[in-house]
Amino acid sequence: MLCIARRDFERICAQALAEYPHECCGLLVEKVPGGVVTAHACTNVQQQRHEEDPKHYPRDAGTAYLIDAGDQLRIAEVAEKAGDRVSGCYHSHIDCAAYFSAEDERRTWIFNSREAGDDPDDPDAMYLVLSVCGEEVCLQRKVQGYKCFAWDGNRYAEMGVEIV
Ligand SMILES: [Zn+2]
Repeated sequence: MLCIARRDFERICAQALAEYPHECCGLLVEKVPGGVVTAHACTNVQQQRHEEDPKHYPRDAGTAYLIDAGDQLRIAEVAEKAGDRVSGCYHSHIDCAAYFSAEDERRTWIFNSREAGDDPDDPDAMYLVLSVCGEEVCLQRKVQGYKCFAWDGNRYAEMGVEIV
């Protein structure tokens, strides 16, 4: 179960809407294991990477995210100093459902630096995915769904989300 404070969830939604038609991303930090998580926005550097090196980064930020390494380090350091820990990350999907894509799974190997087929290094990591649809599809830009995924011992499966 992902437990997230309402103000943090609303901040993620606002970020997802503001960064549309690019995917937004950020980290989830928990104070107590299994406790309420807070959201920390990160820069999605996928677009920049794609423009600099389209061969290695064929996707642009409309279909992928890459958390800025500096943001990740800074947030992890602050969390560690406070006795908290980074427990997962979030990103948005543009004009498609909140599901855990093959690309998302591949990204967890980067996030956890594991090889394909291995169990994740951090099997407790949670991945919150938001679905944002734009004006052309939904008349009004909106967050139309969200789901959270985590490793269940065999695969990434949906887990509950509680907004408190
Ligand atoms: Zn995704």
